[in-house]
Amino acid sequence: MSHSLQLLNWYFEHQRRLPWRETSDPYKIWVSEVMLQQTQVDTVIDYFNRFMEAFPSISHLANAQEPQVLKLWEGLGYYTRARKLLSCAREIVLNHNGRFPEEFESVLKLPGIGPYTAGAVMSIAFNQAYPAVDGNVMRVYSRLYNLYDDISLPKTRKSIEQLVIANLPQDRRHYNQALMELGAMVCRPKDPLCGHCPVSLCCMSLEAGTQLELPVKAKKPQKRIIRMAVAYVRRGEDLFIVKREEPGLLHGLWGLPMTEFDDMEEAQTMLRTHMADTYQVLLEEGAYRGMKKHVFTHLVWEMHLFAYKLDFADALYENRAAETEGIYADPTHWMPHDSLKTLAFPTAIHKLFQIIQDV
Ligand code: SF4
Repeated sequence: MSHSLQLLNWYFEHQRRLPWRETSDPYKIWVSEVMLQQTQVDTVIDYFNRFMEAFPSISHLANAQEPQVLKLWEGLGYYTRARKLLSCAREIVLNHNGRFPEEFESVLKLPGIGPYTAGAVMSIAFNQAYPAVDGNVMRVYSRLYNLYDDISLPKTRKSIEQLVIANLPQDRRHYNQALMELGAMVCRPKDPLCGHCPVSLCCMSLEAGTQLELPVKAKKPQKRIIRMAVAYVRRGEDLFIVKREEPGLLHGLWGLPMTEFDDMEEAQTMLRTHMADTYQVLLEEGAYRGMKKHVFTHLVWEMHLFAYKLDFADALYENRAAETEGIYADPTHWMPHDSLKTLAFPTAIHKLFQIIQDV
């Protein structure tokens, strides 16, 4: 027995009302799908509404400046997603007359769009027969078919995609969303609500009693921990901030100066040396303010915060010396504290600002 009809009926009755479900505009569906990668639905709603208010169409987004986009993304994390959205919007304006392409192959060629997002937009916006297999869908299908294949392997995703295609009803627009919704609301990872499940009669793992063993996912290697000494340097009302210019983590975002260290006893010495060598800012002994952790996809930052107050005259002297040598090409290193709101800081740095407010 196919589960599609029961699933769709359940979805029409029980789905959560979400702003991106009120539309078939491919732009809005695309933005919501990108935001929903790695982020909870409840968090995304406000970000999505603000983003649509600022950039109601692809051409509005394409005309935006990167700092504007990053500011609206602030706190969502995984900032590469925001940059790719922007470059993708520009490419759509340049090569597709500002209209989201309707061919799956053209969509896959756009920057930052993989098979999942392409499938979601194709099916939800254009009702085309493509699967959109995310973690929720892999869990639901592993259980429905009692599959013990490792879902972290690409070949498992491919075989589940084939199964989804085989089950797609005429209403593709809602089937993929219904599967995701079932995974989020009923077929939950640790406590599936099988007694309330609309597809329980077709569920092989329920029959076998194996729901909690599935899906199978190989354990990821432990994340590397990197210890960072971070400087919070005030000069009167100004704070010393730096833009992360190097490619990689948090590229293009503002932050506090920091350097890696191993031994806690050496942390402050290394930080002061880093400040002197990199920014020509000479610091006296500072005060230790505490530690915050921030978890990225592959690693963890253990950030130890040190606070410093610079003498205004000393700082001016340092700035003058630096300007003479042409080091401060960017004078915005010193930022009035009440202007910080205008810049995009990642969540990791907001955690450190929180320490300062709590002291
Ligand atoms: Fe998931 Fe239980 Fe429904 Fe099977 S019956 S799909 S395990 S919630």
